[in-house]
Parts: sequence; structure tokens; C-alpha cells
Amino acid sequence: MKTIIEPFRIKSVEPIRMTTPEYRDQCIRDAWYNLFALHSDDVLIDLLTDSGTSTMSARQWASLMQGDESYAGSPSFYRFKAAVENLMPFKYLIPAHQGRAAESILFTVVAKPHHSVPNNTHFDTTRANVEAQGAEAVDLVVPEGHHPELEHPFKGNMDIAALERFIEERGVENIPLCMLTVTNNSGGGQPVSMENIRQTREVCDRHGIPLFIDACRFAENAWFIRQREPGYEDTPVVDIVREMFSYADGCTMSAKKDGLANIGGWLAMNNEEWAVQCRNRLILTEGFSTYGGLAGRDLEAIATGLEEVVQEDYLNYRIASTAYVERHISAVGVPTMKPAGGHAVYIDARRFLPHIQPLQYPGQSLAVELYRHGGIRGCEIGTAMFGLRPDGKEEPAHMDLVRLAIPRRMYTQSQMDYVVEVVQDVWERRESLRGMKFIRQPKALRHFTGRFAYVDDA
Ligand SMILES: *Cc1c(COP(=O)(O)O)cnc(C)c1O
Repeated sequence: MKTIIEPFRIKSVEPIRMTTPEYRDQCIRDAWYNLFALHSDDVLIDLLTDSGTSTMSARQWASLMQGDESYAGSPSFYRFKAAVENLMPFKYLIPAHQGRAAESILFTVVAKPHHSVPNNTHFDTTRANVEAQGAEAVDLVVPEGHHPELEHPFKGNMDIAALERFIEERGVENIPLCMLTVTNNSGGGQPVSMENIRQTREVCDRHGIPLFIDACRFAENAWFIRQREPGYEDTPVVDIVREMFSYADGCTMSAKKDGLANIGGWLAMNNEEWAVQCRNRLILTEGFSTYGGLAGRDLEAIATGLEEVVQEDYLNYRIASTAYVERHISAVGVPTMKPAGGHAVYIDARRFLPHIQPLQYPGQSLAVELYRHGGIRGCEIGTAMFGLRPDGKEEPAHMDLVRLAIPRRMYTQSQMDYVVEVVQDVWERRESLRGMKFIRQPKALRHFTGRFAYVDDA
């Protein structure tokens, strides 16, 4: 069969409150054209993020009732531990309330001010946690990863030659660990090949540097390996996942992504000395080592989620549904990042709106219009987000994108057809969209709370 259907039925529904363009126009004005300031029940299709927004299965809801809320030694922790170790068999497992808490603990323990941490691309919380220790976060993705229009099967790969050079220049003693983010979220959800993980490992081994995987979308990455990397066509996903982690010395994870849960995360590693220090830090900041800031029921939901996220029917549908949206909007000429990522479709707003210069935030203008016209909430990833430098000067970001992140198991194909239609409508009258300006902005992370207006508004 050609049609890939959702491999689930819907047992419980959440009504969407239907709204009109006039109503949404008022909502977005009241929010000062900042999509983060909207009330989410004024949104029809919410594609702001895939983080913590997954639909839980009936089995997950049932496992919540099994949650044991004992302070120490809860059976829910041991179920969670068994589920994680089935996929990522590291010696020490440290639960945390979400991914950035795991990152904060790890880098507090291992990073010093003179250190540098290489990664294919640091996610923003990872970078912030490295920098919070006074260390330097360095991105070494392959050159293909910087070109949105270029087709390449593994645009998330580490640039191995650049990594070698980097280690030579900085010196092994200044590099506490090397990271690999799978899939490469900040680089468009692009995967990393098994060969590249292996090569990264070889370089690290040669210099005695530990390799950690930022594992948030490990299952989506494994599916891309199965689909695109010669030799893995017939390998079960679980075996691909185990092989990926066999090359690593540890990982950080947000269960809000491929944990199919609404909250949670963890840190895992083989180094005992680091693990002891991380655990002590955990007890100080998150909670005891068998719950790490989570309820016992959360650990249960994650354990069940990890069993479901590696199912091949699920991954086949998941990756196909993201690619479906990208294929249909690019078929009418909308410029997108190629190929589609695992969790999101990225519209190239700079090419969509060439009449709006980067410092007038074409991504923000497009994101606002998608909301006003169709009630779709995406996220500007461009100059509004990254253009303000610490010295207060502004410059265009590397790219101006609008990300449509697809929550897991949440929306149906007809809802995605609606998204396609809204993007096409806005594409057809793109010349009418106007540039924007900030009228109020904080010094850091301005995209979350800043206020916008149109440049030609009084
Ligand atoms: C989401 C994410 C994180 C941080 O996880 P949170 O649970 O949001 O704190 C780290 N790395 C990557 C690649 C992510 O996508």
C-alpha cells in the first residue's frame, strides 16, 4: 500500500476551539505579535514545539497508575532503569526533570573555564550550560549542514577533519568530552550516520576523550539510519539504537522528545568518578537519585514511552508524516530546508519574503501571518531569536527560518493537509506581508518576551 496510515486509533479527544481570522487578528495584536504570548487555546494547530507535547498512549496512561511515589528505591525507578538500559546500556543512570537539568549537572561536574566542548551543533540549552561554566561550546557540523537547500542524507554529521584539527589546536587537556546531538535539532533535525558516530568515536579514542550523545531524538535518528545508510536496511531499530550508544561513554536525554512523555530526562555514563559527583549534585538540585525531580508516575510513563518509540510502525509513520508536509508545501514553490527533518519542517523565510530584509524579521512576519490566516503557531528561528549580540548590536542571523515542529502522535493527516493549505495561501499573497520591528525587548532571549510592531505602524 502507498498510504502510510497513523498506526493508532483515537480513544480520547481534545476539542479544538475554532476561531476566525478576525478573532485571531485581535489575539495576535493583544500579544504584541509575539506567538509565545498567545493563550494556547486560541491556537488551532500548535506547531511551536515537539517538546513535551507528545500524545501518550493508553498503555502510558495505564502505567501512570502503577507509579510508586516512594521517596527512595521506588519500583517505578527500576522499571524506568530497565527500559533505559535496554536501549542505552551505560553503567550509571541519573534521572532528571528534563534535559537541561541533566546538562546542568554534567557540565557543572566536568567543565572548567579553560575548557572547550565540541559538538556537531549545540542545542541552545546545551550551549548555555557549557557557557555557564565559563567554557566554550564549539559547533563542528559538516559544511552541508549550513545549506538549507542542499539535499544530503546525513546533514547532521560531525566534520571529522575539523574535529581532528580542533583537538590538535585546543589540546586534549582542555576538552573534557565531545558531544554528538542526534538528530541535530538546531541544524534542522538532520540525522547523524552510524559511520559518522563510529568515526567520531575513533577520533575521541585516539585522544582519550569521552564521547557523550545528546540523545533527545535517538529513535528518529535510528530510523533515518535504517532508511538511508547502506547495510542497515534490515537491522531492527532496537539494534541500531544499541549500536549507536555502544560507541558512547554517556548521554544526556530529554524524555519530552523521544521519551514520548510530557516531562522528564536523564544523564547516563560509564565513568564512576563523574557519576558519584553528578549524583551528589543531583541530590542538591533535583532530588534523590531514584526520582531526580520526577514523580514515580512520570518514570512509568517514560518507561512505557521508550518501548513504544522504537516500534517500526510508529517511526515509519512519524518520519513520513513530517516529510509529507515538507513535500506538499515545497511542491507549490515554498522554499524549505531539505531534506525534511525528523521532527519539524523549516520554511526558509528569507527566500519566502525576499522583499523583507533580515533586520525586519521575515520569519516573524511569516509566523504571525500563518497564525492570523490559519491559526497555526510555528516558531521564528532567525534574526529575532539570534540577531542581538551581547554588545547590544544587531546583525542578521545565519538564516531566517520558521519552524513547524510536529508533536508526536497528535495531529491527523487532514489537519496536516490544512497546514499545507494555509502555507500555500500565504505563499500566494506573500508580497503583501510586511517587515516588523521590536518596540520592546529584553537584553537576552528577546524572542520569548519581546514586543513587535510592523515597521510602517505609527
Ligand atoms: C530539548 C533539547 C534539549 C533540552 O531538553 P529540555 O527537556 O527541553 O530541557 C537538549 N538537547 C536537545 C537536542 C534538545 O532538543
